[in-house]
Amino acid sequence: MKKSVEDLEVAGKRVLVRCDFNVPQDEDGNITDDRRIREALKTIKYLLEHKARVILCSHLGRPKGEVNPKYSLKPVAKRLSELLNMEVKMADDVIGESAHSLASSLQDGEAMLIENVRYDAREEKNDPEFSKELASLAELYVNDAFGTAHRAHSSTAGVADYLPSAVGYLIKKEIDVMGKALENPERPFVAILGGKKVSDKISVIENLIDKVDSLIIGGGMSYTFFKAQGKEVGTSICELDKVELAKELLAKAAEKGVKLVLPVDNVVVQEFSNDAASKVVSSNEIPEGWQGVDVGPKTIELYREVLKDAKTVVWNGPVGVFEFDNFAKGTNEVAKILSELDGATTIIGGGDSAAAIEKGGYSDKMTHISTGGGASLEFLEGKILPGIDCIQDA
Ligand code: AMP
Repeated sequence: MKKSVEDLEVAGKRVLVRCDFNVPQDEDGNITDDRRIREALKTIKYLLEHKARVILCSHLGRPKGEVNPKYSLKPVAKRLSELLNMEVKMADDVIGESAHSLASSLQDGEAMLIENVRYDAREEKNDPEFSKELASLAELYVNDAFGTAHRAHSSTAGVADYLPSAVGYLIKKEIDVMGKALENPERPFVAILGGKKVSDKISVIENLIDKVDSLIIGGGMSYTFFKAQGKEVGTSICELDKVELAKELLAKAAEKGVKLVLPVDNVVVQEFSNDAASKVVSSNEIPEGWQGVDVGPKTIELYREVLKDAKTVVWNGPVGVFEFDNFAKGTNEVAKILSELDGATTIIGGGDSAAAIEKGGYSDKMTHISTGGGASLEFLEGKILPGIDCIQDA
């Protein structure tokens, strides 16, 4: 188990906290969604209430190692000050004179933010000198940026070589909920994997097949599996070089007694657009020249049946081209079915699935919505995340 922020003696200490303040902004630099800032408040407030001197850091966008006002964290400091109802001081640089002088004059229960760590090209290289310079700002390090925990950068991993460390509340919850689901799930354990390509999800499928009772596969990935079963897929997205692998996965699921659930019917179109004329066909009858863009109504009923007794559910990836409103039904229905499950632990991998849950207004009904898309996928693959691995054990 990793040390958490509550395991540190923080009073009077300068604590460097890596947050994920990579927020969307409009052309004038106004923050259009401050969710990530709000999510970081729990750890920040804990530290302030316990009289720490809080030095916040994050990346924002891709400034590619150069100072660029477009990617400045100044608007984040302003928003943080409003949310915390106190001034969060903004440094003019990352680890220059301004950051050092603000850090050394910080009082107990005060907070500051340094500039975008990616202004320095050494950040993404996990350069030991840069990590050491970052560490010199503080006496303790807390990582609470799950969204970048799969990256070994200076502020997400390297800095922990030079300071006593702990995870914040956000990362702790990710480890507690997703870790338990993978190690010791309440059963039946059902995983729903959607998305475009089998090739992006191979490691997740391989890792989960050893752990789940049922594996629902939807979205573009389905068609490579159909091909492996000898079905015709029309012009549906299909990775011919992954058909053999799909056959092996089907065989592995059968051998392990895992129910692998593929769509039984599909919404198909001839033209890839929201307004295309569509029809529903069974998975054995996808016509030549047509492509699958969503699961059909019988498949949704099948999902409902498979999920009804589930005690643990993990969902990653849309089961159709949900960016097109007309073909978002399957994905929205999955979100709805999960929101209606009674007494199940429901875990939503970040990105598209989280967006569908939010759009449906079901966020409060989920046990956990991961704060990192790429990171949660790597977690589900069973990989060790550098941003968590670097933290001291409790
Ligand atoms: P991923 O990033 O792998 O989770 O894939 C998400 C993408 O998969 C979304 O942009 C969806 O539009 C796409 N997708 C889902 N189902 C299909 C499908 N049947 N055909 C093409 N793309 C799909």
